[in-house]
Amino acid sequence: MVDLTSYNTFGVRAVANALVEFEQTEEIVQYVNSLHATPRPYFVLGGGANVLFVDDFSGDILHLTNKDLTTVHEDAQHIVVRVGAGYIWDEFVAWSVKKDLWGLELLSGIPGTVGASPVQNIGAYGSEVSETIVEVEAVEIASGSLVHFQVEDLALGYRTSRFKQEWKSRYIVHHVCYRLAKHCASFAKYERLALEKDVNTPQGVRDKVLSIRSAKLPAVNELGSAGSFFKNPEVESSELSRLRSTYESMPYYATERNDVYKLSAGWLIEQCGWKGSRVGNAGVYEKQALVIVNHGGATGREIFALSEQIAADVYQKMGVRLEREVEVVPAKTRY
Ligand SMILES: Cc1cc2nc3c(=O)[nH]c(=O)nc-3n(C[C@H](O)[C@H](O)[C@H](O)COP(=O)(O)OP(=O)(O)OC[C@H]3O[C@@H](n4cnc5c(N)ncnc54)[C@H](O)[C@@H]3O)c2cc1C
Repeated sequence: MVDLTSYNTFGVRAVANALVEFEQTEEIVQYVNSLHATPRPYFVLGGGANVLFVDDFSGDILHLTNKDLTTVHEDAQHIVVRVGAGYIWDEFVAWSVKKDLWGLELLSGIPGTVGASPVQNIGAYGSEVSETIVEVEAVEIASGSLVHFQVEDLALGYRTSRFKQEWKSRYIVHHVCYRLAKHCASFAKYERLALEKDVNTPQGVRDKVLSIRSAKLPAVNELGSAGSFFKNPEVESSELSRLRSTYESMPYYATERNDVYKLSAGWLIEQCGWKGSRVGNAGVYEKQALVIVNHGGATGREIFALSEQIAADVYQKMGVRLEREVEVVPAKTRY
């Protein structure tokens, strides 16, 4: 039995049958073969920054520890690097900005691992990891085969990918290849953050992003959370008009898709009065209503129950359904 409290950023207690760590890809293949011989539940866990354990897990927790980083291609404009899934995401970003490479700087400060970065297509401040991923290497659990996916195979979208949808639990990602730029092609994407004065270097952008994030998001070693608990809802123009007729000042953003607008889930939750509230040991972060926090000793079920209460309240008051960004483990629809 293994205690998972320190393996999830909510810091909730859950116990699993075993923790199986992999340093080499061949070890994953061997494990998968043993799984075929003796089937049992398994769950791939990176840094535990986007999961909520609501119960003990009666199976194996699979955890990659490979942290290799190699250059696989370089030309005058770009460098392509292949990175082990166990590499800590923000350490990889720090490595890239130190090398003066562009592409990851807006994704500074996101907790978790490289292996999880394509799973929900991590994003922040108008940038998504889909802009830099070239290829993902994985082990297919059903066959034990090594597979290579090009970025276009993955259907990377707003906080989603095939790994999070129809390929759920089918692959273990062991390496990801990213293409980083030696020169900044456009500074336009930094305007949204009013970063113009600091965009001379990737490090300048990273420093600014880290300082903005630390003012808005709780440090996970001080207050347990998984960052944004819900996704920002997307609505069509008819629904947007309905909401704006009641909430004139409601923020919304156009998306790349025709007639689809993104709302701010944090704003909706705040309007419903949840910001800074507390139910038992779980609560809504006082500086950002989209973040549910563990004030200490909260169980996964307490946090889950609070999230359900919030979602039901937003739907009742505003008619908007919130979808969880965080993955609930073990996966059941009701607790
Ligand atoms: C304070 C805070 C701020 C955050 N801010 C952001 C943000 O700005 N933007 C953002 O996008 N996210 C954000 N997040 C969420 C989180 O950081 C990301 O989702 C991150 O990618 C999770 O990485 P992880 O390694 O912890 O994955 P985990 O939480 O361990 O796992 C997430 C999912 O990925 C799967 N997975 C993990 N590793 C592998 C693998 N090797 N192969 C196959 N599947 C795998 C798991 O099975 C699970 O389905 C934030 C979280 C916190 C706590």
